[in-house]
Parts: sequence; structure tokens; C-alpha cells
Amino acid sequence: MKTNVLISGGGIGGLTLGLKLAQCNIDVTVVERLPGPSSVYKGELLQPKSLEIFDSLGVSDSVFKNGHIISDLELIELKSAKSEAENSTMSYSILPSRYPYSLMIHHETLKEILREKGEEYPSFHYQSNTVCKKIDGHTVIIEDRETKEAQEIHSDFIIGAEGRSSVTRDYMEVDVKEKKYNHHFLTVTFPRPKEMVKGRIISTYQSFLGLFPLPNDEVRSVYLIPAGEYKTLRKKPISEFHKLYIQMCPDLDGYVNQIEDWKKIQLMVPQKYHADTYVKDHLALIGDAVHTVHPMAGEGMNMAIQDGSILGELLCDMYSAGKLDPANLEWYPKVRKRRVAHQMHLSHLSALVYSYPYRPVGWLRNKSLQRMERDSISHYKQMLNISGLGMWRETLYDRMVQGGVLPIRKDSLTEEEKSNTKFTEIQDYPWKGKEGLL
Ligand SMILES: Cc1cc2nc3c(=O)[nH]c(=O)nc-3n(C[C@H](O)[C@H](O)[C@H](O)COP(=O)(O)OP(=O)(O)OC[C@H]3O[C@@H](n4cnc5c(N)ncnc54)[C@H](O)[C@@H]3O)c2cc1C
Repeated sequence: MKTNVLISGGGIGGLTLGLKLAQCNIDVTVVERLPGPSSVYKGELLQPKSLEIFDSLGVSDSVFKNGHIISDLELIELKSAKSEAENSTMSYSILPSRYPYSLMIHHETLKEILREKGEEYPSFHYQSNTVCKKIDGHTVIIEDRETKEAQEIHSDFIIGAEGRSSVTRDYMEVDVKEKKYNHHFLTVTFPRPKEMVKGRIISTYQSFLGLFPLPNDEVRSVYLIPAGEYKTLRKKPISEFHKLYIQMCPDLDGYVNQIEDWKKIQLMVPQKYHADTYVKDHLALIGDAVHTVHPMAGEGMNMAIQDGSILGELLCDMYSAGKLDPANLEWYPKVRKRRVAHQMHLSHLSALVYSYPYRPVGWLRNKSLQRMERDSISHYKQMLNISGLGMWRETLYDRMVQGGVLPIRKDSLTEEEKSNTKFTEIQDYPWKGKEGLL
């Protein structure tokens, strides 16, 4: 069998890329190991840039129909559980986008939307319950997991989108160095009060609870625990878990209690790595296969979508111009690598800020967050950088403002100043400029 582009892995990254290519009439085969939806929790928060990408792919109606919009993130610092709270709010509404908000959607629903849209195009082929076993040059050996029948697929380009454990990455001999953290997360979705519509991060100096409303009056939660504590916790009755949540957020009484069993609660082990190499000859890596990020800033899935979108546009242009020299693939890391590194850095910092259980750390965090909210430049930079719409690095000056050494800047940015901070078309797709494709 022959195809133009073979994508190994039908997660969010692989499906975004597959859909984009199918829309350019490129013959694309997405091979997915799983037979159907997975029960494993993964990323569910879509940042504004991802919403813009899905708009361009013609799936935004379905995404909005199945999603819950989050305009603001409330950051609530309790001196101790049950005490008076100190709040700050970070808002997406200041962003220069037609989507100045984020959106929560069930991971598997989003995959289904992308796959179903892809299947509207005759050049889109999706093979589930099939695993990519081996790569040899331009040939990929796939195996049906039920019949054990193997098949060879010959492909111009091979894209590794298999997530953290990647056959393509191994074939490319690309190493990643994993960084582990001193904490893990418990994560679970359960019913929420109707009025709970904003994202909430509730912390004391010792604990952290993230609450992200989903549609149908559900909420996805993440609760930070010290690494290794999961086994001890699981030995306790489930009511102990309910108590942890209710102490941090009394509104959840009557809701979190509906979780009847530890089996519903998933352990999430954060890690981070960023491979040096994204592309080798006719092979490329996207999403978690090439970078994994701490989930604190909700970036993992968005980074996979943004990879898929940039690489997709590049391959579309290569095919439409008939310029299939694999050296053209190098444009993809040129665009993505710096952006990914910056978002990983921000996520890592957020993780550090919440993961040391000492009073002075909690105090400093609270003070900086409150100043970040009030300092127009810091607030804007933070939201811009997590949104994926642009990149504006923080400076020492910003940190000194946040730390209280320098005064807060109250003047808001003009619309023109904001627009100048967004990625331009030529920054997203530099090969469309003078240098062009080979
Ligand atoms: C357990 C877990 C929990 C997470 N929770 C969060 C979260 O709460 N918030 C957040 O922002 N991010 C979270 N993330 C990160 C986020 O979900 C990922 O960054 C995002 O899903 C990456 O998308 P991807 O398409 O690159 O990879 P994946 O979503 O991992 O998809 C890869 C796909 O490839 C398939 N595959 C693997 N090997 C093969 C093969 N050899 N042949 C065929 N198919 C193959 C897999 O079955 C899978 O469907 C989580 C990740 C994990 C692993």
C-alpha cells in the first residue's frame, strides 16, 4: 500500500495534522493503536491559538457545541484550608483574538470531532486498532492488533505522533532526557455546581487544587500530592479524598462525594523533556513524541495542535508546489522549537511556584500573582504566552515589578500594541516569504 504521508498515532496532534493534509487533498494515513476511545484523562483545555486553528480547519462549530468557555482563571490563595481567601484573576479577555478565552472539552470528544471531519475527505484514511511496529526507510510495517496481520505501507513522509513512547523517535535515534518532579497529581472529573463556570486554582502553602469546568455541569479537577503518596492515600476510604477537596473548596460538598471509588481517580505523573531533533530526512516528530510539558499551564495538547498545524501548512505548500525535498521540513522546527521551549519554561516555572510546601513560597506566590494581575504588562504577557497567540518574553524588570521592587504599570496596552505582539503570518509560515521552498 502507498500513501503520501503516514502519521503514526491518532492522538490530538496526529489528527490535527491528518485533517489539515486531507483538506489539501494529500493522501494521508493515520494509524492508531487503540481500538476506540480511551478512558485515560489527557489534556482538555484549548487555548485561543488552538481555537483559531480549529476555526481554520472548519471544526469550530462542533468544538464550541461540545465545549465550555473559560474567560477567567481565579487564583485563590487560602492562608490555610477553611480560612479567608486572597484572590487574583487572570483574564483571557485582554487578548487580541476573535477567541479571547479558553475552552474545556472532553479529550475523546475532540478526537472524535477531528476524525469525523477528516473522514469527510476521500484522501483521509484512519486505521484503528493498528500499531506501527517498525520503520525501514520509507516503509512502515503496521500490524492489526486483532488478526496480527502485518502490512507494509510505503510513504513519502513519516510523522511520529505516538505520544511519550514513540517508535518513530526511536528509529530516528533521537534521545530525550526526562525531568521528573517532586509531586504527582490526582485527576478526576465529576459533577459541579452550575454556578462554577470559571477556572479556579485554589492553593494553600501546602496544597493545590485546580478546577476546570467542562460542559454538562461537570468539572475536571487536578489535586497535587507529593510523589509516592498515592499508594498510601488509596488505602484510605474514599471519603478522605472527598474531605481533601471540600476543605479547599466547600462548594464541592455534595458533588465530589459522588465519586464512589478510588478507581475513578487517575494518577498523573508530570514530566518534561524536549528533544533536540524534530526532523531527520523524511521523518518528523510532533506533540508529546518530541516534547512533554508539565501540565500546570495546560499546554501539552495545545503544543501538539500547534505542531500539527504548522507542519500541516508546510506539507500542504510542499505538495501544492511539487517541492518535496525533505530538507524543506526543517522549516517546521525553525518555527516551533523556540516557541515550545518558551512555553515549557513557563509551565516549569508555574510548577515550581506551586510545588514547594513552605509558607514563604506561598506568601511570595500570592504577592506576585496579585501584582501580576494589576500590572498591565505582566498580566498581558502571561496570558499572551499561554494562549499560543504570540510570544513576549518576561524581563528582569517584569519580575521586579511582580516582586514588589518596582512600581506597577497601570496603563493598558493599545489595541495596536497588542496586535504587534501576535505572531504574524510570516512568523508562522516563514517559507512563504522570500527564501521559499527548495
Ligand atoms: C496520562 C496523561 C495525562 C495528561 N493530562 C493532561 C492534562 O490534564 N492537561 C494537559 O494540558 N495535558 C495533559 N496531558 C498532556 C496532553 O494530553 C498531551 O500533551 C497531548 O495529548 C499530546 O498529544 P499527542 O497527539 O502528541 O499524543 P497522545 O495524546 O499521547 O496521542 C498519541 C497516540 O498515538 C497512539 N500510539 C502510540 N504508539 C503508537 C504506535 N506505535 N502505533 C500506532 N499508534 C500509536 C496512542 O495510542 C495515542 O492515541 C496528559 C498526558 C498524559 C499522557
